[in-house]
Order: sequence, then structure tokens, then C-alpha cells
Amino acid sequence: MALREGLLEELVSTGIWLQASDIHFDPTGEAIRLIYRIHGRLIAADAVSHLPHETSRAIVSRLKVLARMQLGEQRRGQDGHVRLETARGICDLRVATVPTLAGERAVVRLFPEEHASLQLHELGMPHAMLSSLQRIVQEGAGGIVLVAGKIGAGKSTTLHALMREHVTQGASVITIEDPVERRVYAFHQMAVDDRLGWSFSECLRAALRQDPDWLMIGEIRDAETAHIAVRAGLTGHLIAATVHADDARQALLRLVELGVAPSLVAQSVRLVVWQRLAEVLCDHCQGSGCEQCAGVGVTGRKAEFQVLDRMEAQRFLLSPERVDKHDPRKPKWSDERTEVRHFVSASRLPRRVKRGVADEGLVVAESPGVFTNDRRRSGRLE
Ligand SMILES: [Zn+2]
Repeated sequence: MALREGLLEELVSTGIWLQASDIHFDPTGEAIRLIYRIHGRLIAADAVSHLPHETSRAIVSRLKVLARMQLGEQRRGQDGHVRLETARGICDLRVATVPTLAGERAVVRLFPEEHASLQLHELGMPHAMLSSLQRIVQEGAGGIVLVAGKIGAGKSTTLHALMREHVTQGASVITIEDPVERRVYAFHQMAVDDRLGWSFSECLRAALRQDPDWLMIGEIRDAETAHIAVRAGLTGHLIAATVHADDARQALLRLVELGVAPSLVAQSVRLVVWQRLAEVLCDHCQGSGCEQCAGVGVTGRKAEFQVLDRMEAQRFLLSPERVDKHDPRKPKWSDERTEVRHFVSASRLPRRVKRGVADEGLVVAESPGVFTNDRRRSGRLE
């Protein structure tokens, strides 16, 4: 079935307008449901969920072609990337497909260009944290900056902003990511590919020979990578890495769990930044969804940061009871330097939602195969 020209661009453009991070194409047997992830919540795009099967299929096929994936391959997962021009500007898309019992599922992560230039000071970090980061760079002595948090806590955003700051000062930045989600043309981005034996640790070894000012490791999650990173940090390289952890102290323990001696962790880690994102509920409906927030219930997300400087990290790591006494489920917020600030996304949803999403170019299925911006059928999301 032929795909109406510009349909994919409209879906993406609407996603940008709604501040969606992802678009899901969920196969349900005969149809493909279209869902946006907005501020962490899954919102069925009601107006477009009536897409007939072939049309949804056609969109996924077009995505696969644009992202240089194998069109005919539906039995294995694939990843791809494409830069798309939409009514709301250029958007980088990372496309990932997997086979499911109900059919091929695709998820598209959106990286609008207008959001790509997020600067460090725009993340809402406390001043003390910013100046600690600056000091580490100025001293130039090497070491590791750990950015910790759970999945979806915005760790990559923070790391990229940190790296971008140094690129503007003329630094050479090499990143090792699995996968590379956001393309940043000022970085030298390396993608891990385990199928080729191109693992995090292999990439890291190779990157160290490329004379970088900063090395960014997408995630430290294996012993080898942890050991190389710590050794590199101790020999004068500046490393920034993310770690999956429930709080700042647990981030340090992660390295210990991976077999690095606590004393080496203490010597190499310069700063731990732990963060999480909390929903900012809509003022008007307190989360239940209303016209003011396009039914999402959430108008943005704020970041909370926890910082552990080198002295605090050392004191914790070198205290004999650290493992027994540390329980991230009971964070002692009072003794941490914690601040709550708004991420840049304190950005609100557009105010024009009263007139309906359809106004903003969301495609509405009028009858199977026909798409129009029909104002009578409001594209209200639920
Ligand atoms: Zn609301």
C-alpha cells in the first residue's frame, strides 16, 4: 500500500511537539498500535491508533529503508538511524525493531535538533556541582567522573552536556556507547558491537590510543571495562562514565563489585553525580490528564541530583563498615548535598492544546487508508 507522502514526518513532528521521547509501533495481530512516550508515560495516540495494518506496516517499512535496515528481515532485531526533516525542525531518529509473536515491533527514539544543544548549565545542576566539574578539568590531573542513576534518569543527557562543554573549549572527545543514540557530530562516537568482538573494553583500549582529552564510557557494566577505566583515570586520562545505581554511594560500590579494589576506586573517582527524574504534574489536573496538558497529566520532569566529591567518596570507600551499613533503599537525604532543580524540560506542553491535537498536524484516520487533519474529530490523547 502506498504511503501518503509526509505521513511519517507528521508523526515525528507531532512527537516533537508533544515532547515525546519515543514512538512505539506495537503489533497487535491485525493492526499496529501507535503510542507515544511523553515525560515517561505511555500515551496511546488515539487519533492515529486506527491506522489500518498495511499503513502502519508501510510506515515501519519506510523507516527501515530510511534507517538503512534490511527491509525483508523481520525475524531478527535490527537497529538503524536516520535524520528526518519535519515541520518542527530536523530530528535524529534511532530506529530499533524486534520480532514478536504478534509481528514486527518498532520503537523510534526522537532526538530533535533543537534539544541537542543542551548545555551543562541548563540541566539545573547545583552551582557547587558545576564548579566541582570545572575544577576537575582545570586541574587536568585525570580521574573518573561517575554519572549514576537508574534507567531513564537522564544520565546520557548529563554526560553529553558535560562533553559538549569541553568540545566548545577545543577538547577532543571520544565516546563509547552501546548503542549510539544521539548523534553529536562534534564527538568521535564509537559504537560497541559485541557480534564483532568490539566490546566496551576493546573500544576503551583502542580509544585510549587515540589521544583523547575526554573519554566517555556509555556504561561501566563489566569487570574488564571497570579495571581499564580505573587504570586510565589513575594515569592521567579524564574519563566520564555512567553506572547503574540507586544512589551515589552505590555507584562507588558497583566498581568494587566489579572487582576493583576500594582503594583504587577511591583514588581514581573524582566526583559522583547521581540523578533521577521526577514527574512535574500538571497544575490543572494533578496528573489525571486534562485539556491543558493534552491528556498527558505531566508537563515536564525535574532532575534531582546527589553529589559525592572526592573526599566524601574516599571517606565512604575506606570505612570498614561501608558495605554492611549502606542501604540505598534508605537514602539519608539529610546528609547528602541534594538539590532539586528543574531540567530544561521544565518546558511545558504547548498551551494550544485546547484546540485539539489535530490542529497541530496529527494525522487522524477518517476511514481506513484515508488520512486528514480533520478538526471535527479532535485528536485528543488518552
Ligand atoms: Zn492536566
